[in-house]
Amino acid sequence: RTDTALYEAKAGGRGRVAVAGGADDDLLEDLRTALDAHALDVVLQPVVVPGVGPDATRFVGVEALARWTHPVRGPVSPAVFIPLAEANDLIGDLDRVVTRRACADAVLLREATGADLFLTVNASGRHLVDPGFVPDLLATAAETGWPLSGLVVEVTESTVESASDATRDTLEELRAVGVRVAIDDFGTGYSALSQLDTMPADFLKLDAHFTAQLTVSDRRRALLAGLLRMSGDLGLVVIAEGVETGEQEDALVALGCPLAQGYWHQRPQPVAALVAALLAARDRDDSPGAVLGGV
Ligand code: C2E
Ligand code: MG
Ligand code: MG
Ligand code: MG
Repeated sequence: RTDTALYEAKAGGRGRVAVAGGADDDLLEDLRTALDAHALDVVLQPVVVPGVGPDATRFVGVEALARWTHPVRGPVSPAVFIPLAEANDLIGDLDRVVTRRACADAVLLREATGADLFLTVNASGRHLVDPGFVPDLLATAAETGWPLSGLVVEVTESTVESASDATRDTLEELRAVGVRVAIDDFGTGYSALSQLDTMPADFLKLDAHFTAQLTVSDRRRALLAGLLRMSGDLGLVVIAEGVETGEQEDALVALGCPLAQGYWHQRPQPVAALVAALLAARDRDDSPGAVLGGV
């Protein structure tokens, strides 16, 4: 996933950077510098109960997503800097910086809204096999005051597919201390379906491509209906990612999909902006139970 992925990301990603394909040593050095200075930002995107509306204040959790604004080039897409970090042994540092900021932000969000939320953080497969992963996470949670019971670690379906014993051990270890696990980008890989019954996981995040096809055909919807039933039987809570339209939302509600996430509800935002948006929406709704929590 290194060179080609990077090139494609540069060519097509949002916030693309104006560089030619191939190695970009300058960008790598700048990323290193930014990580050393903890100069990465975090935005939070709500996970909501579908069926409430585009302005949903019914959120149960937030996903933390890394943002990097290069001092000269401006915003760099995660589709560029995440693979760059993964290919150059910086992803552990990146995940640590992001997780620390995210936990601190989640504490603020909880205090401002009074909601009982979970926080999900993305973890690269490479970072999961690092023996320091779990101890670091526990230390971060303790130091920031974010409870382990409110923490969810997202690992991609492709990581799960190729999961070594070490990876599985890490996921088991997380769950043993009360941290939950989500399988991210589900539906983009090849074989994770056959491992779902033995995978140590709590949430299944349905990839945005899958969500986009929801309104395309009855056969697609039948597939999702089956997937939702099966997930429920296995004790996995499904989160549909990338919900962009009211039609997709309606389809999810009709199928009984428990949770959703996407631009239609809320864009990923810095914590202060998110607090303001949620409090404004709650005032408009004037419904005491508008901000939910507790999943
Ligand atoms: P992901 O974990 O699957 O995150 C969801 C992506 O979908 C995010 O892209 C989010 O901004 C975007 N998104 C949210 N709602 C919608 C929607 O309605 N439509 C569409 N088209 N997209 C939507 P983003 O922020 O660019 O991040 C891309 C990927 O980079 C993430 O995918 C994740 O795999 C990775 N990533 C981001 N932050 C971190 C991090 O701190 N650590 C690691 N290891 N990976 C990260
Ligand atoms: Mg994710
Ligand atoms: Mg995803
Ligand atoms: Mg992804």
